[in-house]
Amino acid sequence: MSLQGKAMSRKRANTPGNTPPIAKAPSTKSSSTKAPSTKPPGKTHLKKEGAHPCHECTACCNYIALEIDEPTTNREYDYIRWYLFRPNVKVYVDWDGDWHLQVDSDCQHLLPNGLCGVYETRPNICRDFDWRDCEKHNDDPAEKWLFTTSEEFLSWFAKQRPKAFQRYEAFCENLRQEAAEPELLRVI
Ligand code: SF4
Ligand code: SF4
Repeated sequence: MSLQGKAMSRKRANTPGNTPPIAKAPSTKSSSTKAPSTKPPGKTHLKKEGAHPCHECTACCNYIALEIDEPTTNREYDYIRWYLFRPNVKVYVDWDGDWHLQVDSDCQHLLPNGLCGVYETRPNICRDFDWRDCEKHNDDPAEKWLFTTSEEFLSWFAKQRPKAFQRYEAFCENLRQEAAEPELLRVI
């Protein structure tokens, strides 16, 4: 598998200690195609005043995402299914065509009131994020494609890449037949 990760989050939360060796540079999930802004959030972001667009929203502290290779081989298509067998795991394709693995998980420093418990020392990926790039402030959906289940992915696969899908089905069927042959069965 050539899962090349891009430690990222819709907002920012990547836990450095948990970053796999495949991680690349952080980025953010945004409906905008421009590079994430590095402008620090304003003070209103901290206070989450009622008029601020982030008021009562904590969505960008509730997940991490890693960029992965676009699947092009049978094995890579299989990995996508494997990821999606897990609860709290999604795969999405952004508007640049980049593929991402998303894991829904609340940051441990997110306070019950929706504020950041480590605001002054929050990771740079949190600091760099500009809420104006957030998909919630744009009319366009955040992602071009979003898969929350294996079935959703297979449906997309069959429709969008029919020839590759046929090859993948043949690949799976071949593996099933090989596994069914007695001499190949492993006796535990
Ligand atoms: S509105 Fe967007 S930037 Fe603001 S907290 Fe929610 S997800 Fe994050
Ligand atoms: S460190 Fe703070 S800003 Fe960053 S994800 Fe956690 S709660 Fe959100």
